[in-house]
Amino acid sequence: MTTIYNFSAGPAVLPKEVLRQAADEMLDWQGSGMSVMEMSHRGPEFISIYRAAERDLRELLAVPDNYRILFMQGGGLSQNAVIPMNLVGRKAQPATIDFVRTGSWSSKSIKEAARYANVNVAASAEANGYTAVPPQSEWQLTPGAAYLHLCTNETIDGVEIDFVPELPGDVPIVADMSSHILSRAVDVSKYGLIFGGAQKNIGPAGVTVVIVRDDLIGHALPICPSAFDFKNVAENESMYNTPPTYGIYIAGLVFRWLKEQGGVAAMERKNIEKARLLYAALDADDFYQNRVALAYRSRMNVPFYLRDESKNEAFLAGAKARGLLQLKGHKSVGGMRASIYNAMPIEGVQALVDYLNEFAER
Ligand code: PMP
Repeated sequence: MTTIYNFSAGPAVLPKEVLRQAADEMLDWQGSGMSVMEMSHRGPEFISIYRAAERDLRELLAVPDNYRILFMQGGGLSQNAVIPMNLVGRKAQPATIDFVRTGSWSSKSIKEAARYANVNVAASAEANGYTAVPPQSEWQLTPGAAYLHLCTNETIDGVEIDFVPELPGDVPIVADMSSHILSRAVDVSKYGLIFGGAQKNIGPAGVTVVIVRDDLIGHALPICPSAFDFKNVAENESMYNTPPTYGIYIAGLVFRWLKEQGGVAAMERKNIEKARLLYAALDADDFYQNRVALAYRSRMNVPFYLRDESKNEAFLAGAKARGLLQLKGHKSVGGMRASIYNAMPIEGVQALVDYLNEFAER
């Protein structure tokens, strides 16, 4: 039987071990006689699942004690509204939010934030087609901004920010890490808030992780829905309303799997190797092209084009026949994209590289 490798950008591949355990426990979680889906979120069984997930994520990312981890609903895009509604209240209104525009997702964040605050695009990579991050020396930051928003990995454009800017004053950095959270070491203390939808490196869609510094909680605008007020969520261990319980359970299994793999540092080493292998194959053959500047190439999302785009359909059909799935690029940019998240084994990347070579040869 052909081994399947799934390169979807999200919802994306999950570790087989996790899916197997979830299948084993589907009807009866650890002798409780209930599926996790059937449990009260306030019962001792689910509370133990929740606390273990929180503890393991805290350990994996070395989250300092003065940060809260929230498991919310609504996905990454909802945070584009939820974060301004929670964070701009620390400043006189209207407050200003700074952004660096590095691709599609930061662009969406800018548009949404403009409904709640003044937005200042401190720098934009639009002119270079989102193929590099503008150098920090060129960023036109606002003194006293409510915060600076960065999308540290642009899932569609394949651009990853590999540095943490040093900002003057006490402007917190808000980072959308949806598509590379847990793929590399991060110093959480350098950020005011980190968020991400779960459906790439954490678990199923429907869970949104928010890691937020204590002092940024408790300033929600009056218009902020109660269920999205970080204060309510934090004070109730993410159970102000019913949290996405099954998704949190799967996320917890993924966190445990990550710990068994050696944690984030070990994952990062594997991810560097996987990305090196794939980019080397793309660069070696004129048949393919990745347009992102070397320093900003994403380790997680690798967009590429066939120089002869009339071969796109044949490329995808051949890939599918080999068990290499979901390689079609995002509809807004076309071409191909291989997402190689934590759960993608190096064998999957090698299988893709072999196919790239063979297809070009043909
Ligand atoms: N930010 C980034 C970086 C993403 O990749 C995505 C989804 N692909 C989003 C935000 C939006 O997430 P959601 O679809 O969960 O709202």
